[in-house]
Amino acid sequence: AQKRYADLREQPATDQSGQTISLMMNAGLMADLPSLNGSGADGVGLFRTELQFLTRTRVPRRSELAALYKRVMDAAGDKRVHFRTLDIGSDKVLPYMKPQDEPNPAMGWRAIRVGLDKPGVLRMQLQALIRGAEGRPLSVMFPFIATPNEFHAARDSLLREMERESALGRTVPCDLKIGAMLETPSLGFAPESFFKACDFISIGGNDLKQFFFAADRENERVRRRYDTLDAAFLTFIEQIIARCAANNTALSFCGEDAGRPVEALALAALGVPTLSMRPASIGPVKHLIRRADLRELREIIVNARDAGAQSLRPAVTAYLANL
Ligand code: PEP
Ligand code: MG
Repeated sequence: AQKRYADLREQPATDQSGQTISLMMNAGLMADLPSLNGSGADGVGLFRTELQFLTRTRVPRRSELAALYKRVMDAAGDKRVHFRTLDIGSDKVLPYMKPQDEPNPAMGWRAIRVGLDKPGVLRMQLQALIRGAEGRPLSVMFPFIATPNEFHAARDSLLREMERESALGRTVPCDLKIGAMLETPSLGFAPESFFKACDFISIGGNDLKQFFFAADRENERVRRRYDTLDAAFLTFIEQIIARCAANNTALSFCGEDAGRPVEALALAALGVPTLSMRPASIGPVKHLIRRADLRELREIIVNARDAGAQSLRPAVTAYLANL
């Protein structure tokens, strides 16, 4: 099977109806980068930046971070890397940050909330990203955005750093794309102007699903209770797809489900144009997409939903079994 996937490396993930899905990989370490070429990924759809913060005993220096981001972009070459700014709090606690005693950290002071309330570290990270790009294209996305205001504040802060670097005579990225992670249901209902303002949106399915079903992703007892292919969840995803399409906003899905064959096929069939996953999942997902007819699968999903199915998994699985 490994060999079969290796043969697919240079092939696009084009289905039988001629649609091409972009497959990207998730990363978080320098050591992940060699997989970019080995896996055949089109780019890095999610680069989790918290690992460099979690593995140290103090806040990393701007120069260290800039050097690291530069190496990541060097290794990626022409392929785009979507850097997700620091997502700490919740399950990821920094050793050098005062622990917050919160009753419910996943819904607490985390991610962009920390970045906006205590902007020092976020600003430093944004400067490091701008410098690391050395005039190349740069994509930055902000985690756990719950309202348009949070996105606008984060984006303004990035644009301010761009101006500041520019005023200091430094080269700034030639093509800056600014995106939001859609990980809270509220953002799916944001006004049209929010979708217009985003260059891209990446659905953080792990968090989005946890908050959609109110089921803790860390709690073994409840985390598998609700299906990603539940008709309600897929209907919500479909609504996000339609809103992004109507506003010309690039859309990707970067939660773990993007790398699970049945889920990946269903998301692609519904119209998610880019899936970002663990490098090892790219081969298997590409193989399936190339065999499938996503238009046909979409019809199967819609018909099953219209017929009242709560989970669309049986319909998708049956389709896959006959491929
Ligand atoms: C997600 O929530 O789906 C996501 C990609 O972010 P993380 O898993 O790092 O919270
Ligand atoms: Mg998340």
